[in-house]
Amino acid sequence: MPILAANWKMYKTIGEAKAWLDAVAGAPGLGQAEVIVFPPLTALAALRPKATRIALGAQDVGWADAGAFTGMVSAPQLRDAGCGFALVAHSERRRYACEDDPAAARKIAALWGAGLTPVYCVGEDAAERASGQGEARLKQQLDTVLDALSGELGGRLLIAYEPLWAIGSGRPATPGEASQAAELIRERVRLCCGQAAAHEVGVLYGGSTSPATVRGFMDEPQIDGLLVGSASLDPRSFLAMLEVMVDA
Ligand code: PEP
Repeated sequence: MPILAANWKMYKTIGEAKAWLDAVAGAPGLGQAEVIVFPPLTALAALRPKATRIALGAQDVGWADAGAFTGMVSAPQLRDAGCGFALVAHSERRRYACEDDPAAARKIAALWGAGLTPVYCVGEDAAERASGQGEARLKQQLDTVLDALSGELGGRLLIAYEPLWAIGSGRPATPGEASQAAELIRERVRLCCGQAAAHEVGVLYGGSTSPATVRGFMDEPQIDGLLVGSASLDPRSFLAMLEVMVDA
């Protein structure tokens, strides 16, 4: 089943989040794709009762299960709040919260420990791409984390290829570029964790996707789904993306 995930970032009040879910909840395509929404934490409790055919996720997670960590929310707390997923090391967390690869590995382990699925975000920036260092950056982000996890998957893992130059820029990667990155991701997972893990891992593309670009990405066999930012905020464009995805 293809995966369509909505990252709302720091947008939407509780009322707006509920209205979005009301607009999307009856969509026929919901049974044919795995739909995951990453709302702000403030909206989780309001969405939970209505999110029957949509999974809920958090945009970040603490690496400890409990303790004196002001401002953090743990994986067991997210599970308690109805989350099945969490983003890990989104590029905005890397940029604004100094999140690094070792911290990402701890967060992934914490999520697996609580039975949640991490969506580990990787991607090179414009300068790395321009200087031909894009692949090296991806390998570093993947190998550091997979090695720290002892080369074993402790649960389901989704990896989102989100090149920084594409996020929020209105210029998505081409399906070919995204597919090449997805291939590299599977290859690193195979080398670190074995063939079965490389087969099981889900690879998403994210960065300025829209209804017009869904089909191109979903035609690539290496890509299992999309992580959508801006185009997920309006339920109409999100539903349009879902429709294309389940038709593709
Ligand atoms: C994101 O930030 O995860 C993202 C994919 O954003 P956008 O679709 O707006 O580029």
